[in-house]
Amino acid sequence: MVVSSNLGFPRIGANRELKKLVESYWASKINATALLSGAANIRASHWELQREKGISHIPSNDFSFYDQVLDHIVLFGIEPEKYRGIPNALDRYFAMGRGLQRAAEGIDVPAMEMKKWFDTNYHFIVPEVSADQTFTLSNPAKPVVEFLEAKEKGIITRPVILGPVTFLWLSKPAKGQSAFNQLSLLDKLVPVYEKLLGDLRDAGASWIQLDEPALSMDLGSDFSAPYASAYARLSAISGIKIIVANYFGRIGANIDIVAKLPVQAIHADLVRAPEELDTVIEVAKKNNLQLSLGVVNGRNIWKVDLDAAIAKVQNAVAALGSDNVLVAPSCSLLHTPHSLTAETKMSKEILEWLAFSSEKLSEIATIVGVVRGSPSAEVTEALEANRRANQKRKLSLLIHDPAVQSELSAVSDSMFRRESPFESRIRKQQAHLKLPAFPTTTVGSFPQTKEVRLARQKLKSGEWDEATYTKFIQDETTKCIKIQEDIGLDVLVHGEFERNDMVEYFGEQLRGYVFSQNGWVQSYGSRCVKPPIIYGDVSRPTPMTVDWAKFSQSKTTKPMKGMLTGPVTCLQWSFVRDDQPRRDTAWQLALAIRKEVQDLEKAGISVIQIDEPAIREGLPLRSTDWAEYLDWAAKAFLLSSTGVKDETQIHTHMCYSDFNDIFETIQKLDADVITIENSKSDLKLLHAFEKYAYTNGIGPGLYDIHSPRVPSTEEMADRLEQMLKYIKADLLWVNPDCGLKTRGWPETEKALTHMVEVAKRVRNKI
Ligand code: GLN
Ligand code: ZN
Repeated sequence: MVVSSNLGFPRIGANRELKKLVESYWASKINATALLSGAANIRASHWELQREKGISHIPSNDFSFYDQVLDHIVLFGIEPEKYRGIPNALDRYFAMGRGLQRAAEGIDVPAMEMKKWFDTNYHFIVPEVSADQTFTLSNPAKPVVEFLEAKEKGIITRPVILGPVTFLWLSKPAKGQSAFNQLSLLDKLVPVYEKLLGDLRDAGASWIQLDEPALSMDLGSDFSAPYASAYARLSAISGIKIIVANYFGRIGANIDIVAKLPVQAIHADLVRAPEELDTVIEVAKKNNLQLSLGVVNGRNIWKVDLDAAIAKVQNAVAALGSDNVLVAPSCSLLHTPHSLTAETKMSKEILEWLAFSSEKLSEIATIVGVVRGSPSAEVTEALEANRRANQKRKLSLLIHDPAVQSELSAVSDSMFRRESPFESRIRKQQAHLKLPAFPTTTVGSFPQTKEVRLARQKLKSGEWDEATYTKFIQDETTKCIKIQEDIGLDVLVHGEFERNDMVEYFGEQLRGYVFSQNGWVQSYGSRCVKPPIIYGDVSRPTPMTVDWAKFSQSKTTKPMKGMLTGPVTCLQWSFVRDDQPRRDTAWQLALAIRKEVQDLEKAGISVIQIDEPAIREGLPLRSTDWAEYLDWAAKAFLLSSTGVKDETQIHTHMCYSDFNDIFETIQKLDADVITIENSKSDLKLLHAFEKYAYTNGIGPGLYDIHSPRVPSTEEMADRLEQMLKYIKADLLWVNPDCGLKTRGWPETEKALTHMVEVAKRVRNKI
C-alpha cells in the first residue's frame, strides 16, 4: 500500500510557542524544567496533528531548541573547546547558538558561525572539525529520547538524522586548522551512526531517515566512494530500514551515487526537479528501492495541483508496485508556516489558494487516498475542492492584470540601459551635485529606537491617529537630518523611521501582495520571519516614497537620497507565485520600482538608492544554473534603475563581502555608486574590486555597524588608506557598511563623526 509520509514539521509551534518558551528561558523567566516540559508538549501536539491528518511515516528528531545541525554537534560530541567549561548542558547548547556572557562566572563566549541552509532563509550553526577529530555518541542521544517519547504516546516515528556525508560537507575546519578534506573523517564518524542506528532499532524504530541534501549540489566524483562505503556499513545493521532523502534540487549527476546506495528507500524532490521522475523510478526499479516522491512543495505556500501530483504517484506505482511508493512533501515543512487556521483577515478568495504545513499534510493524505483506490467521500470531496480552488486561482481577476502584462511584454533592450556610459554620467552628476572628493554618506536607516517602534504600535492599536503618527515620524526625520548636517555628511538620508521592514513597507503599497497574520517561518534560533506573499501581477497604484522624500529634501540643501528596495530582494524575501517564472515576477516588481524612481526624479530627488542585499542569496544551488539567474536578476535591477536622466545618481547597496561569485553581475548593474559590506576588515573584497577593475563609484563599509563599538578616527583612517591601495581615489565613497537601524544614537553619532573627520583628512592630503 502507498504510504503517506512527512520529512519534518515546523517546530516553532502554531503560535510561536517555542520562540516564547526559549526566550523566556533566556530571560530567566522560566526554569529548565518548564522549558523541557513546554517543548515536550509542542512535540506531542505536532505528532498528534500528523497522526490525525493521516500521515503514516511521522518524523521525530525534527524538533530542535535552536537548530538541528547544532543538535548534531552535541549528538556527536564535537562541541568546540571554548564551550566545554559551561557546566549546564542547556546553557552550553544555547551558548554555541548565540554566545553567552556571565561576568560573575567568568564566562564570555561568542556564538558559533551561522550560515544559510542551502538556498533557504533558514540559518544553521556550522560544525567545526579538526583533522584529528574524534566523535562520540552523546548519552542520552536526542533521537533515541524523542523516539521513545513518541512511542510512549503510541506513535512509532521515523527518526530524522542528518546523513554523515552531508554533515561533513556542511562542516568547516576548526579555528586555527588549515584546510583539509573533511570527508577524511567519515571513517571515524560512521561508527557513531552505527551505534545510533542500532540504539534506535533497539528502541523500536524500523525506518530511519538520513537527510543528504548535499546531493543537490555539485559534488564531483570524490564523493562517490565515501557515500558508497558509509552507506554500506550503515545498511549492514540488521533490523532497520534506511531512507536517504535528497531535497532542494535535482540529483543530477549525483544519480550515479544514489544508484549505488545499498539502502531501502530514496526520497526525491519532484517539485524542484519534476524532470527527474522517470530517472528516479528507473533507479528505484533497478535497485529494488522504495521511492518517496516529494510532490507537495515544502518551500512555498500554494495549494498543490492534486491531479498532477496523483499522476506522478500513479506513474511510480505502475512501475514499482504500490508497496514501494511513499508520498511526501518535497522537503521538510520547516520552511512553511504552521497552519492557515489563524488567518482570519486575509481575503477569502486568496486564502482558498493557500496551504501551509498542516494543510499540506492533508494534501498528502488525499493523494494517498486517491491512489490507493476506492477513495472515501471525504477524499473525493477534498480532490474536487482542490480542483475548484486551483481553477478559480487560474482565472482570478485578482491575479491577472492585463495592463501589467502588456507592460512586461513591451520591455525593450533600451530599458536595461542608462542614456550614457558612467564616465559621461558622472560628470553631469558632479556638475549638479558638486560633491567633495571622498563623499560621505550612510546606507539608509538610522536607529529604530523603542519610541519609533512604539509609535507604530500605537498607530496600529488605534491609540494614535494617522496625523499624530505622521507628525511624530516627521519630527524624528527632521532631527535625523539636522544631526547629519551637524556631523557634516555630504549625501543625506531621511532615516527610514516610517518603515517597519524594507520589503514589507513596499509590499503593503504594491498590488499583487498579501500579508498573513501568523505565517511565521523560523529563520534562525528563536527568530522568525513572516514573508509577504506575492499572489498576482505586481503594480504600483500610487507613489510609495515620494512624499517622505520631498518632505526630507525640503529640510536640507544637501542632496537627500531617495531610498528603495530592489526587485530581486523583494522577490527573494517573499513567498513567490508559482504560476509564472520568477523572472517575470521580478521584472514586474522592477517595472513598479522604475516608476517610483522616475517619480522621485520628478520630485527633485537627484540621488536614489535601490538596495539589493539579496541578489547573491538567490544564486541557484547548481553552478550551471547561475548564468541564467544572474542574467535576469541583473536585468531586473537595470529595469528598475535606468529610467532616469544621466544627471540622476543611482546608488545600490549589498550586505555581504564575498563578491567573487557575482563580480561580473555587480559591474553589469552599472549603478553609479555601490556601498557594500566590508566590516570583517578582510581585504578579499577589495582585491576583487581591484582585480576586476571596477569602473563605477564604490563605498566599502569603513566600519562595522553590527556592533556598538565605536572605532577611533585613527582606525578608520588606516582602513581608508588601505582601501586607497585598491580603489581609485575618485571612485571611493566613505560610509558605514550597512543601515544603522539596530544601533543606538550615541554610538551612531560618535562613529559618523569620526568617519566624516577621516574623509576630511584625506581630502586635505590630496
Ligand atoms: N537601506 C537599508 C537600511 O539602511 C538597507 C538594509 C540592508 O542592507 N539590509 O536599513
Ligand atoms: Zn546592508
